[in-house]
Amino acid sequence: MIQMVDLKSQYLKIKDEIDSGIARVIENTEFINGQDVKDFRTELASYLNVGNVITCGNGTDALQIALMALGLKPGDEVISADFTFIATVETIALLQLKPVMVDVDPETYLINPDEIEKAITPRTKAIIPVHLFGQCADMERIMDIAKRHNLYVIEDTAQAIGSDYHFSDGTVKKAGTIGHIGCTSFFPSKNLGCYGDGGAIFTNDAELAEKISSIVNHGMKVRYHHDRIGVNSRLDTIQAVVLRAKLPHLDEYNNARRTAADYYDKAFANCHKISTPKRAQNTTHTFHQYVMRLNGVDRTALMEHLKAKGVASAVYYPIPLHKQKAFQGFEYNPNAFPNTDKLCESVIALPMNTELSKETLKYITDSVLEFVR
Ligand SMILES: *Cc1c(COP(=O)(O)O)cnc(C)c1O
Repeated sequence: MIQMVDLKSQYLKIKDEIDSGIARVIENTEFINGQDVKDFRTELASYLNVGNVITCGNGTDALQIALMALGLKPGDEVISADFTFIATVETIALLQLKPVMVDVDPETYLINPDEIEKAITPRTKAIIPVHLFGQCADMERIMDIAKRHNLYVIEDTAQAIGSDYHFSDGTVKKAGTIGHIGCTSFFPSKNLGCYGDGGAIFTNDAELAEKISSIVNHGMKVRYHHDRIGVNSRLDTIQAVVLRAKLPHLDEYNNARRTAADYYDKAFANCHKISTPKRAQNTTHTFHQYVMRLNGVDRTALMEHLKAKGVASAVYYPIPLHKQKAFQGFEYNPNAFPNTDKLCESVIALPMNTELSKETLKYITDSVLEFVR
């Protein structure tokens, strides 16, 4: 079976470093906040060119902690995308804030800045753009909107670590380092994944960094002196070992994903029943997922066909967030999200990882085209 991700082959190439690193942590029993965690923070900050990296337990925690650091009040509104993994919007609701969801672009799948601006009210306090599937939302426009309306911006870069955003003045910044706070996940299948759960929060704001460092550790700076309500959210030292081994390869991993995506694009270029994912302007694409749209194709039948051929496929995401049971209390206007509605019905994701050979890609695309003609 050709799986969506292939973590085993990737592991075998860096096995010695990971195995010896994990053995070292066990040997010296530095399980919590070991030296590797500190070193990883420094190395990631340097890679991203950002002032502060605070590690935490997972990407969902990262988003929750970022929101906690802003000191918002119940009922304050936070704008995010309707088409994303639930964690982005779930954390807003969890903190008794009001999740305001907006529609996305039908071709890049990214949050639409015009819709953000339309959704702003006097209670709006923050925007969480999602860099979905590996490319950056239109951060120049989003930062401009945020500045004009005095809003915080938290970037959800769980799917886009390593992506570059190009500003019109020529400045280039890494995804997650543009807004006030950036959040990422090291879930195993993410572009930079560990071997369990992990996450991180980035910021160039020293004051926010201090608050966040305190929140992740029970609101504590001096041991057993608690300055605020916090949480317990940590990156294990063993996970930091894995991430330190992988970080030097991240650009190479992202390039491998782009090469696979280019192959898919070319293979489907002349098939009018497939719309390949559009590259957004001003951003590189790190292809966390390769998500294409089907036009007049029975998706379930195609997925069955692929499965029979030994090719995995998936749907990211099958249900718009505004239709999720969990959000029924918020009474979203069912007609406000035409693009998300259509995407949820028509998207399909093909295997995307760092280990796809030309032969495998040919087999996958041939299998798709056998069914879709
Ligand atoms: C994976 C993901 C998260 C959550 O990360 P976890 O580490 O699984 O909690 C949040 N947002 C997006 C867009 C994601 O893809």
